[in-house]
Amino acid sequence: MSPAAKAFTDWDLDVAVATAISNKGWINPTEIQIEAIPVARQGRDVVGQARTGSGKTAAFGIPIIESANPSGEPQAIILCPTRELAVQVAEELIWLQGDSGLSIQTVYGGTDIEKQAKELQSGADIIVGTPGRVIDMSKRGHLKLADITNFCLDEADRMLDMGFFPDVLWIFEQMPAREQTLLFSATFPQEVLDAAEEFMNDPVYAMSDDLDVEVPEIDQFAVRIGRSNKLWVLGRLIANMAEDDQMLIFTNTKRMVELLEDRLGKFGMKATGMHGDKAQNRREKILNSLREGNTRIVVATDVAARGIDVDGITHVVNYDLPDDTESYVHRIGRTGRMGRSGQAWSLVSKEDMAALDKIANTWNLEIPYVDAPELPEGVNRDPVRKREDWSEVTDPFGMVSVSLEIGSATVTKRSLADWIVNEARIPEIALGEIQMKDTSSTIQIHVEKASYVIDVIKKRQFGGLTLNPSILEF
Ligand code: AMP
Repeated sequence: MSPAAKAFTDWDLDVAVATAISNKGWINPTEIQIEAIPVARQGRDVVGQARTGSGKTAAFGIPIIESANPSGEPQAIILCPTRELAVQVAEELIWLQGDSGLSIQTVYGGTDIEKQAKELQSGADIIVGTPGRVIDMSKRGHLKLADITNFCLDEADRMLDMGFFPDVLWIFEQMPAREQTLLFSATFPQEVLDAAEEFMNDPVYAMSDDLDVEVPEIDQFAVRIGRSNKLWVLGRLIANMAEDDQMLIFTNTKRMVELLEDRLGKFGMKATGMHGDKAQNRREKILNSLREGNTRIVVATDVAARGIDVDGITHVVNYDLPDDTESYVHRIGRTGRMGRSGQAWSLVSKEDMAALDKIANTWNLEIPYVDAPELPEGVNRDPVRKREDWSEVTDPFGMVSVSLEIGSATVTKRSLADWIVNEARIPEIALGEIQMKDTSSTIQIHVEKASYVIDVIKKRQFGGLTLNPSILEF
């Protein structure tokens, strides 16, 4: 472990970098920078545990910049899972290098390959790219990997999760001159540990002891709500946002991004959708507009939101819960950045409950179930009305269980069933099993008749008794 530095000036950094940092107003390195920079500067391989927002870009960027020369030949390559992240990393490196004269070039898919090739040919010292396009450029002879000495994997968990392992391996094998490998990841699933083993030489681990993720200081809540009322809850969350709050809403599919963008718009809540099929320049525009505070609400898939480096995001909403537990941590890491407070809300339907449990257990998180927030003072109409939602209380056979305040002390199953059938004038088949205790019972009613039958039972009395029906959760 390196001695902790209190200030960047303690490190005797390369003058160009030190000046750039001081011009930027940075004084103290972040935790991951304190852990990783000194050992990386000694040339050691480093496995760093850090999420976006922790200052990880500079943690690998500073040592990489310091060991590069403005020769115009690629000496270092940083691989990122998405083009947005590649652009952000490159932007940070460009200012960090100050006037060291280094050329930092991005190489990512979805843009004009010839243009990128020309830029590379005009000289590049540090490459920041996505694996697919890097391979493409290398195979076409536009990018020479053979002399690269510094190799960095950013967001390695995400990258390997997205199936990039064979690509990363291919690139790795084209770099016989490699001297140093840096790997950064928010989480450490087996794939990342295997990759570290494969690519690294006696690495220093800059991470917490128990491999726990650094979960940002974010208030996390879950609202138990059926699919058809998620929009109602979202309406309330949006109604409660302060003027300069910003919200990032996650769904699991591109189609859902578009649907939700559209639905929110119809209810007067302007939201911008972002997913992998949107053109690169469109996505960059959205990011800029978020940064400038002109966009308040973005709906995105995990891939599109990867690496969004916008400090103003105050709310993250999991409209859909993510399919894997790591994504939850990545998602909520979009808020509460650099010590600012944030809140993360998960809208949890019956089907999502097991997934939320798994997330909470995996990362040892407290995610309490709470009610949807009340409307703020002065607002007396919900942006989206709440609907009756039977799907959450219906069993696989279409039956809803209803409890009644009457039991075997007063009535038999048969006479209770007959009374309901007569009062509500429903076919007997609409009723299922009845279970009775002394003073209470549970009766199953088919979902098609449930609302009506409950209404009838509420209004009538059985031998002078009110039965107070209430729906039981399935
Ligand atoms: P990153 O985790 O690399 O995405 O960094 C998150 C944000 O923190 C970026 O806007 C960085 O420019 C900023 N940042 C990184 N390190 C520091 C530092 N030591 N002091 C102040 N800001 C920092």
